[in-house]
Amino acid sequence: MAKIDSSGIRKVFALAATLEDPVNFSIGQPDFDVPEELKQVAIKAILAGHNKYSQTAGDCSLKEKITAWAQMRFGWENPATLVTSGVSGALLLAFMTLIDPGDEVIITDPYFVMYKHLVNLLGGKCVFVDSYDDFQLPVEKISDSITEKTKLIVVNSPSNPTGVVYSSEQIQAVAGIAAKNGITVLADEIYETFCYDGACASIADYYPKTLVMRGFSKSYAMTGWRVAYVAAHRCLANVIEEMTKLQQYTFVCAPTPFQKAAIAAMDYDVRPFVDSYREKRDLVYNGLKDRFEIIKPGGAFYAFVKSPPGTDATGFCEKAIANNVLVIPGKVFSEKDTHFRISYATNNEKIRQGVDILRKISN
Ligand code: PMP
Repeated sequence: MAKIDSSGIRKVFALAATLEDPVNFSIGQPDFDVPEELKQVAIKAILAGHNKYSQTAGDCSLKEKITAWAQMRFGWENPATLVTSGVSGALLLAFMTLIDPGDEVIITDPYFVMYKHLVNLLGGKCVFVDSYDDFQLPVEKISDSITEKTKLIVVNSPSNPTGVVYSSEQIQAVAGIAAKNGITVLADEIYETFCYDGACASIADYYPKTLVMRGFSKSYAMTGWRVAYVAAHRCLANVIEEMTKLQQYTFVCAPTPFQKAAIAAMDYDVRPFVDSYREKRDLVYNGLKDRFEIIKPGGAFYAFVKSPPGTDATGFCEKAIANNVLVIPGKVFSEKDTHFRISYATNNEKIRQGVDILRKISN
């Protein structure tokens, strides 16, 4: 436990409770609520008595639906699937299943915090591959980082904290590197629905030895409902089986009534939410681009912005927080502290306020 730190995001989130009506750009969850009709499905599931354990691998109807989706989406015959307690649950099960002490995991820097801490917890070694300043997939550096100990490559697109969506060419190139070395890929695609400028390529389109993780937390604003899934080609069926075995002794199952709601969610059209988030992305990008170094994010609901010259990100974030805007310093997601993360999952009025304040304190 001494190797892991408590979440820097949670610390800022706790600070938010002490400020009066701050602009909260800190936490990664949608500002919309679960759509009414999906809430009704969960309520009905509870009233109908779906309150007991489900099968370990997931409610049979949900699992069937996910399996059919994976078959259609990736053309996989009889894919292996598992319903998990959030993508967080899926990540814990996958890392515990795959990582032995000393194993190396290739992770692009900046990264989603959980990868680093879980790998460290298990005695694995994170091999960070720098993706500054354009935050595209650093294909050559990934290739150079492969050793005999490489167990896994993590690909997170759209990415947290940068909001960057990797191009299919880059993804294909990394698929080629993984294939050449027979390495398993973990594709964290939790933000896949939030893709603003065209479709989001999946590495599973090019490489079967991929654990695809997707969830309901972000797309349907169900962060508190704790439902997600993993899907894989038959060649990784043994990994999914081991993850399922471990689920028996950890999470047991994802929450049963919410698994019922997830079945309905898979047929629910979230395009209006995505359209409104594209507008938020534009408000942030257009509002900051002449004052800050900022890469236009193609997905998720984050922007990773360079701190003004002469200050590190922690210093700049302290200044922002003193001005009532909560942003997260880059060192929470990175070995560097040069940028800060904005989560623009808030209402447009707050985004405008926050952008104005950040502009004012930018020099
Ligand atoms: N992966 C990424 C990249 C995330 O940003 C998050 C949530 N912040 C998760 C996984 C976990 O999400 P959940 O457990 O709610 O499904």
